[in-house]
Amino acid sequence: MRDDSPTRTSRFRAPTEPFRWQGVDVLAYKEEGSAPFKAVSRQVLFSEPFLAGELRYFEVAPGGHTTLERHEHAHGVMILRGEALCLVGETVRRVAPNDLVLIPPMSWHQFRTRGDEPMGFLCMVNADRDRPQLPDNDDLYGLRATPAVAAFLDGQDPT
Ligand code: MN
Repeated sequence: MRDDSPTRTSRFRAPTEPFRWQGVDVLAYKEEGSAPFKAVSRQVLFSEPFLAGELRYFEVAPGGHTTLERHEHAHGVMILRGEALCLVGETVRRVAPNDLVLIPPMSWHQFRTRGDEPMGFLCMVNADRDRPQLPDNDDLYGLRATPAVAAFLDGQDPT
């Protein structure tokens, strides 16, 4: 049987269990040791040569957090499960399933789970993108000028 597809990805993929899909590997969030994060997995749902973007599903275990970072590319995020505190720029908000989060270019951002459920989200991103930047001491000092952000960075809930 001939396959005319420019990609090996199946047109249709069903979930194998909640938040896991046929043919989608559960990967480490980042290369180990490249940036500070805790208890995060990554699944790439869509990444094709003919798409300008990628759609990924990230899952953060209870007590975990994503990397505090910024970059020139943006993210469109939709929360699918669990709850978290989310930092975007100088704003900290609680997020829950079906919430949408826009992370504009060069905004500091991080998710920290709340409660004892895993927190999972879809993240849309440019396929061609710059590497994330991590905060230096001056950046952290600037972030801490906002009390809610300082509390968030200390693992407290300022909401
Ligand atoms: Mn990011």
